[in-house]
Amino acid sequence: MKLTEIINNNHFSLSCEVFPPKQSTSFESVKTAIELIARMHPSFMSVTYGAGGGTSKYTLEIAKDVKYRFNVPTMAHLTCVSSDRDTVRERIHEIKEAGIVNVMALRGDLTPELEKSDRSSWAYHHAIDLVRELKEADADFCIGCACYPEVHPESKNQAEDIKYLKEKVDAGCDFITTQMFFDNNLLYNFLYKIREAGITVPVLPGIMPITKAVQLERALKLSGSFIPQRFKALVDRFGVDDAAMMQAGIAYATDQIIDLYANGIKNVHLYTMNKPEIARAIQSNLSSILGK
Ligand code: FAD
Repeated sequence: MKLTEIINNNHFSLSCEVFPPKQSTSFESVKTAIELIARMHPSFMSVTYGAGGGTSKYTLEIAKDVKYRFNVPTMAHLTCVSSDRDTVRERIHEIKEAGIVNVMALRGDLTPELEKSDRSSWAYHHAIDLVRELKEADADFCIGCACYPEVHPESKNQAEDIKYLKEKVDAGCDFITTQMFFDNNLLYNFLYKIREAGITVPVLPGIMPITKAVQLERALKLSGSFIPQRFKALVDRFGVDDAAMMQAGIAYATDQIIDLYANGIKNVHLYTMNKPEIARAIQSNLSSILGK
């Protein structure tokens, strides 16, 4: 099923992102966590590709498992910047053969090695190149792309970031999912600006529940997100107590999602960090809302 069928219907949706293991030795424990998330029957699940040092070789295997064993609509992520054309085309062919119709088209982060390499030798420079490759493939993919309410760290400014986002969407992207953010006003402001720029595809806000103080540092390093005082106070007060921080982090993420739903957003994507207990608690907090 194409995700646009879910995103464009009139119900609230809560989808979940999971990631493959970093090493093959942890495959079984990650598979179990993902299985527990799939058993929650989220609206759909997306499986990352090589993000944060995770291996890319299990992405498709996990995506197939989620789709065929648990009957949950699935999206496979794919990155392009560190790959040659033959490899990317082979990956696209494998995704198609696996019956996965939803692909998240990403550039991928620039590693220090890539930064040092000769850019003229790169087959792909930006996610838009992968969107074009997917559109040219002999398949009818539903394509998602990433967007950044607080501006991508490499962009000069938001106007430039939105200009390139518009080009990416116009190349054939069906919906966009946001980087994490902790202040919903940043999302509302971003939505206003992209709609003004003529970007009309659905936007799925990405919500990351922070349930450990150390996780906040890592998340900030990755995204450079603004942390509201309200959230800082919560980490200051409860960060040293694991159980309390877990409860507070779940409550904060739930509150963010309820505010988004209340303000007309229909679809929210949860960065689960492969933590079924957290995803389940949030889904349970929203049970009456999600039935609407
Ligand atoms: P792009 O769209 O190429 O944008 C990157 C930068 O280049 C931006 O500054 C943009 O403004 C600029 N730009 C875009 N097009 C052009 C152009 N034509 N000319 C000049 N500049 C341009 N990483 C993984 O490795 N695996 C994953 O599975 C993964 N999943 C993700 C899911 C989501 C929802 C998000 C938000 C990020 C994810 N990432 C993942 C991280 C992502 O790969 C990085 O954020 C990466 O730095 C940028 O990827 P992008 O697809 O947004 O790139």
